[in-house]
Amino acid sequence: VIMSPSMTFQPVLERIAGEIERMPGRGRAADYIPALAACDPRRFGMAVAELDGTVYGVGDWRQPFSTQSITKVFTLALDLAREGDELWEHVGREPSGNPFNSLVQLEYESGIPRNPFINAGALVVTDRLQTRTGDAAGELLAFLRAESGNPSLDFDKEVAASESAHGDRNAALAHFMKSYGNIDNEVPVLLDQYFRQCSVMASCADLALAAGFLARHGSRADGSRLLTLTQAKQVNAVMLTCGTYDAAGEFAYRVGLPGKSGVGGGIIAIVPGRCTLAVWSPGLDERGNSVAGVAALDRFTTLTGVSVF
Ligand code: GLN
Repeated sequence: VIMSPSMTFQPVLERIAGEIERMPGRGRAADYIPALAACDPRRFGMAVAELDGTVYGVGDWRQPFSTQSITKVFTLALDLAREGDELWEHVGREPSGNPFNSLVQLEYESGIPRNPFINAGALVVTDRLQTRTGDAAGELLAFLRAESGNPSLDFDKEVAASESAHGDRNAALAHFMKSYGNIDNEVPVLLDQYFRQCSVMASCADLALAAGFLARHGSRADGSRLLTLTQAKQVNAVMLTCGTYDAAGEFAYRVGLPGKSGVGGGIIAIVPGRCTLAVWSPGLDERGNSVAGVAALDRFTTLTGVSVF
């Protein structure tokens, strides 16, 4: 089924949902905090938003879930919009090939994380956004509410508290980078912002709409500009090479789109100039990406022929 210009995305989404329904293995929900471990891995939702805000969806596409690392795309964009290229002196843009919460490269690279989408890099971005705004997580939430048109989006206090209670690894990353002078705020202040950021609840519909600026080459829903054309291209490029952790090569091979996953089981993907996709299914593979989510995006680009390649 190659998309013709007159086709809508709805029949494609329904076909994919049917295929996912029959998929045997779905992976396991993240179990490092109880709020995520309680999620049923068989749940599945998917949404596509066109550039004008038209949304198509299937399954649990209106169900809010824990967005986790998907928020790293938005904090990156919000900070890049404010400080421009100076950010890249504090965080790199090379795939790490290591798990998302790894510490190993930091010592060799003087406290400069490989990219903004591993935890170390996201902590640096949130730290810089915090310094510039005084409320990084609040900025993020306001942006997501505005772009999705959903004022009820919010943090999940229980998830944020659990993240904090199980936050030793992130605390270690933050302290280690601070010892190199690459973290500005006090570590507890930064961690509070970061854990709240990870706890944002949003649905596939919300996320597909909120990521629309990356398909519109940097323009927000109201037509104002968040990122320059070049910055939007840069964020999409970093998503393609680093957005799914140490599986980014496999994701590019199977899906062929810039994408960003989170351990809550969500993934967003961008078709620049065309649409944004968001998918959710809580069962993860061993690298922390949603099994059914990757499969659904793989089927979408295969069935429609819509991809960046
Ligand atoms: N809250 C998680 C963490 O910091 C987010 C990780 C993720 O979604 N990959 O470990």
